[in-house]
Amino acid sequence: MDTQNKEVKPTNFIRNVINEDLSSGKHTFIKTRFPPEPNGYLHIGHAKSICLNFGIAANYDGFCNLRFDDTNPTKEDIEYVNSIKKDVEWLGFKWDGEVKFSSNYFDIFYKCAEELISKGLAYICFLSSDEAREYRGTLKEPGKKSPYRDTNIEENFKLFKKMKLGGFKEGECVLRAKIDMSSSFMCMRDPTLYRIRFERHHQTNDDWCIYPMYDFAHCLGDAIEGVTHSLCTLEFQDNRRIYNWTLENLDTFNTSKRPHQYEFSRLNLEYATTSKRKLKLLVDNNYVNSWNDPRMPTISGLRRRGYTAASIRDFCERIGVSKVNSLTDVSILESSIRDDLNITAPRTMAVINPIKLVIENYPEGKIVSLMVPVHPQNEEMGTREIFFSREIYIDKEDFIEVAPNNKYKRLAINKEVRLRHAYVVKATHFDSDKDGNIKTVYCTYDSETLGKNPSDGRKVKGVIHFVESSKAISAEFRIYDRLFLESNPAKFDDLSSSINPNSLEIKNGFIEPNLSNAMAEKAYQFEREGYFCRDSESEGLVFNKTVGLRDTWNQ
Ligand code: ATP
Ligand code: MG
Repeated sequence: MDTQNKEVKPTNFIRNVINEDLSSGKHTFIKTRFPPEPNGYLHIGHAKSICLNFGIAANYDGFCNLRFDDTNPTKEDIEYVNSIKKDVEWLGFKWDGEVKFSSNYFDIFYKCAEELISKGLAYICFLSSDEAREYRGTLKEPGKKSPYRDTNIEENFKLFKKMKLGGFKEGECVLRAKIDMSSSFMCMRDPTLYRIRFERHHQTNDDWCIYPMYDFAHCLGDAIEGVTHSLCTLEFQDNRRIYNWTLENLDTFNTSKRPHQYEFSRLNLEYATTSKRKLKLLVDNNYVNSWNDPRMPTISGLRRRGYTAASIRDFCERIGVSKVNSLTDVSILESSIRDDLNITAPRTMAVINPIKLVIENYPEGKIVSLMVPVHPQNEEMGTREIFFSREIYIDKEDFIEVAPNNKYKRLAINKEVRLRHAYVVKATHFDSDKDGNIKTVYCTYDSETLGKNPSDGRKVKGVIHFVESSKAISAEFRIYDRLFLESNPAKFDDLSSSINPNSLEIKNGFIEPNLSNAMAEKAYQFEREGYFCRDSESEGLVFNKTVGLRDTWNQ
């Protein structure tokens, strides 16, 4: 697959199926859907599914629905519905028509269940959940038929109605499909279609106390909406049988145009988890501050961290779509954002570990303003104003008393370095506190070197960044490390054992004055430090590190 050339549409097995379906005339248009359950915030794995479903619809001039798979009111919440809509839009996609909910179709689902009952294909079962598990058998042993399997149709009708009207307790009975208790696919051993839940639903309030199972609701939702290709992840591979069985046994939906399900592999990302359940545990147990904590692999966390929608779409294109499960290298995600920000991010200077640099031969009280480019390779991005005076801040890491070797390119006593966009300086001496921490470095500057090399031909190789001290603005920097110490935390059911206790480091330093009105979530390149964006949830000047300037994980 050519991932470099954006003109070439990546092909994959799903597109091949679609091409065939269009050329054989089976379908005349393409309709997909993205079907999140509103029980958590979307994560980077969902982005893969979103890019695939909406991307295919766009490529084939088709349609893609956003449908909330809201059949389990116990775990769902309107907060999640709203965050999901926001994230899909932010990623740059537009769903067809109104947002859809599986719950919009509860009446139709109920009628479909009645149709199955009337055909002798569904029955009310009173086995307890433990008994039902025992009756289901194992992969090696066939299941046993429920004693309720042969209840007559009329009786099942009555019981189902009673279930709907609240005549049974939660867990007392379920509606099951009558399929095959000895099927080698466990999901075909008389799967549950409806269960009782006395729970208020975020869309239908108290209208229902019976709720359909995913396997029943999903295929029906697809068919009702005229979805042509229902794309889901590999764990639903076996469930394709029940998907087909349901549609084939309902008169309205058993047509040549009915939807078909195709499975692709989930995204698993190194040092992250893409399970909503586990992400929720991280939030609930305060390992992170919220679903949109910048360390979270959620869309909202990545956005708050400074990731752009374009970089996430690019990442999804780079990883492609296949049927092979794998663990994706996090550096692929990081290079997507780095490549984007390298071109789009305005440059600025910030000092994260400040020490003072006093330029002793520079006039006291003189502050000059310098106009410098916003982006060195893109003049159109204009210029910005920075300041220079006798006292500036530089980073502690950029000074050492004695240069370790000739290759050392930062400041050291008797060594010269260029201050970015300003002069060449040479360090002379320094002060430290009683613990030996360097506080102030003193230097002299060469007044002939503003924007040019020294006239005597001296080569000054190193360049360091700085912020003028009287105009500098204090800021907090949040530097993130991986959230997990293990590349594949999914291996552990207990996430706490692989949590990185040092995934957040807070620093206090200085920024250029023009950053004081930086927009939240829009990344800048802090020269020599990395990409940072202003935090959207903090009052003051707080900057989140998006990503470093180069891949340093493996060094
Ligand atoms: P989770 O285990 O995180 O709750 P889910 O599959 O239950 O995931 P849904 O809200 O049902 O979450 O997912 C909506 C769609 O996104 C589904 O079609 C699902 O297959 C897809 N999806 C979920 N996680 C991933 C992933 N890691 N990679 C690719 N697609 C995913
Ligand atoms: Mg799901």
